[in-house]
Amino acid sequence: MSSTQIEKIIFATTNQGKMNEIRMIMKDCPIPIVSLKEAGISADIVEDGTTFEENAIIKAKAIMELTGCLTLADDSGLEVDYINKEPGVYSARYMGEDTPYSVKNQSIIDRLHDAVGKERSARFVCSIAACFPDGRVLTTYGTIEGEIGYEEKGENGFGYDPILYVPEYGKTTGEMEPEFKNEISHRGIAIRRMWEKLQEELPHGGI
Ligand code: IMP
Repeated sequence: MSSTQIEKIIFATTNQGKMNEIRMIMKDCPIPIVSLKEAGISADIVEDGTTFEENAIIKAKAIMELTGCLTLADDSGLEVDYINKEPGVYSARYMGEDTPYSVKNQSIIDRLHDAVGKERSARFVCSIAACFPDGRVLTTYGTIEGEIGYEEKGENGFGYDPILYVPEYGKTTGEMEPEFKNEISHRGIAIRRMWEKLQEELPHGGI
């Protein structure tokens, strides 16, 4: 595999924040990284995997097959140990896609009513998949470990950020400055690991 064979890398997302993050982490990549929109693709992919990794592969593979391009995709969510790692791959769909996160977050806090100490352990998880046109598949994984708080805290971030308390930093991810959260985030870790793997996979300094 040489650089002449790969003209662009598609990151299968429509989220501009994720595009900025991947471009920042893979800033030394000489091949342009484009979003679905920039690649002129609109695809409705059914994410029916049972793990983050499966869903990331489903997304990356579908777009790779559609375009013939090396494609990266991510899938992420919140795992709460006390409730069998729910909401997991259903994080966005938990209690319905349109339910406000204040309601989803309160529901999780309520379900952990009897949980104390380490029983409240939880994490954000992100899996990234890379699917090559020749069939190779790479995957990476990143987490932020924490525990579910007793109430929502913090105005920053989105989704479940106000309830994931990270003891190491003494705050929820919703209380972290966005730049700081990006540095330690599950997605940041998974993307950095993917960038390392891609450089090994695509020799001569790469890509
Ligand atoms: P997606 O992988 O971007 O589709 O994210 C799936 C869902 O996981 C989001 O809609 C959120 O509910 C949740 N999630 C993933 N990452 C985070 C995070 O960093 N903070 C809060 N919620 C998150």
